[in-house]
Amino acid sequence: MQVEAGIEKKLVFGDPKAPRFVWWQNKLRPTPSGPDALTFDLLSIGGKLRAAFGAVGLKPKAPGNEETVEQFVRRNLGDEVFERLIEPFCSGVYAGSPNKLSMKAAFGKIQGLEQAGGSLVGGAISMMRNKPKGPKPERDPRLPEKPKGQTVGSFTGGLQALPDGMAKRLSKYIRKQWVLRELRRDSEGVLELHYDTPKGARRLRTRSMSLTIPAHAAADLLRSASPETCEALRSIDYPPVAAVAVSYPLSAIREDRKDAAGKLPGFGQLHPRSQGITTLGTIYSSSLFPGRCPEGQQLLLNYFGGTTNRKVQDMSPEDVVAQVDKDLKQMLLKADAPAPHVVGYRLWPKAIPQFNVGHLELVQGAQDDLKSAGFPEVFLGGNYMAGVALGKCVEYGYTEAARLSDFLSQSAIGNTNSPEKAQDEAFYGSVV
Ligand SMILES: Cc1cc2nc3c(=O)[nH]c(=O)nc-3n(C[C@H](O)[C@H](O)[C@H](O)COP(=O)(O)OP(=O)(O)OC[C@H]3O[C@@H](n4cnc5c(N)ncnc54)[C@H](O)[C@@H]3O)c2cc1C
Repeated sequence: MQVEAGIEKKLVFGDPKAPRFVWWQNKLRPTPSGPDALTFDLLSIGGKLRAAFGAVGLKPKAPGNEETVEQFVRRNLGDEVFERLIEPFCSGVYAGSPNKLSMKAAFGKIQGLEQAGGSLVGGAISMMRNKPKGPKPERDPRLPEKPKGQTVGSFTGGLQALPDGMAKRLSKYIRKQWVLRELRRDSEGVLELHYDTPKGARRLRTRSMSLTIPAHAAADLLRSASPETCEALRSIDYPPVAAVAVSYPLSAIREDRKDAAGKLPGFGQLHPRSQGITTLGTIYSSSLFPGRCPEGQQLLLNYFGGTTNRKVQDMSPEDVVAQVDKDLKQMLLKADAPAPHVVGYRLWPKAIPQFNVGHLELVQGAQDDLKSAGFPEVFLGGNYMAGVALGKCVEYGYTEAARLSDFLSQSAIGNTNSPEKAQDEAFYGSVV
């Protein structure tokens, strides 16, 4: 995908060994990363034993109903793993509440392990055994070398490089700043899309579409097409989250937190809701990726709000920054650290869709209702269908493209002798 967008040379990777921390009982404690699984001090010995026994199958059986993340993890791995690792992880990924998030919908791969092998370890073994044999799919040789192990990636200059690269590469097909206002059928039964564009109103007739706008925006557009789909999509919760990027001089970092280069070592940290810290989590952006801030400074990206703190949307940016600064002073910075330099503040009033219990059935029902209402050519997409991680959204894009292509090849495309023209018309419609 990076190669297709022409931005592979801009890829940057985080260090896979960069430690992640959890703030627990007034101390930042590294999360286990393999060899230190026995020695790390985030869990007590009792907590580690409970997790180990549970992982191999000594735990209560799975109930018949769909479990929340909290129910699944407490049952499989015990209370400590839930309270000290998974609860803050849910804040980090979903800004959500683990007593509402569905294990199946939010972390389906892990939930599937227990189903497949009776326990998490049993499932992992059976997954490895059933792994398709044969050579691994080849990595595109044009991609830059990736460090060994699981890591995160971005681009020099940030993630904006991705949409910019794609818009450049696909400039013939992409229309920027076209806002979809209405979707309806015309008198010939063709799907009509009405847009506000920088050049005025435009109408596009199309044989199919993938609607990848957020669920609440899709709900408004589909109100008259399918009231049931509208209602289902509107019910998906999107809590507010503020992204607060601040920098401090390296001299402001507490001596016991610094590495040899004087920076914060690692990826970042998460804060369980029970530990008296309001900020959800902090990414050590300038430790993770090169070129993120001037020499002698440390850039920190903080997340604030979520399902447990919706009042962020009524707070002023100054108040949010002040609270973030107070939290950082409690955990990372010297008491006399200067006021932060605010590099960026962005409030996302509807940030991340919550994959709560019932989510998978809800979105499948929304798609089915749309079909029953006579709109089989409208496909719902975006993160509430794909999964919230950016990588999931990209993978889903490829699957969705294949699904649309199948749909079009099965439906009557028109009386043309040129398959190329037929494909083009089918995909891009005609602007009127
Ligand atoms: C604060 C925050 C931090 C995150 N951090 C990470 C992270 O570190 N790693 C990770 O993997 N994921 C992260 N995510 C999640 C990830 O970024 C999103 O899930 C993903 O980008 C969603 O992609 P999308 O295309 O579904 O939706 P969006 O990126 O929201 O795109 C939807 C688009 O639809 C447009 N739109 C809306 N209505 C209309 C209309 N009527 N007509 C035309 N266009 C319309 C919007 O303008 C928008 O551009 C984060 C999310 C947030 C909010």
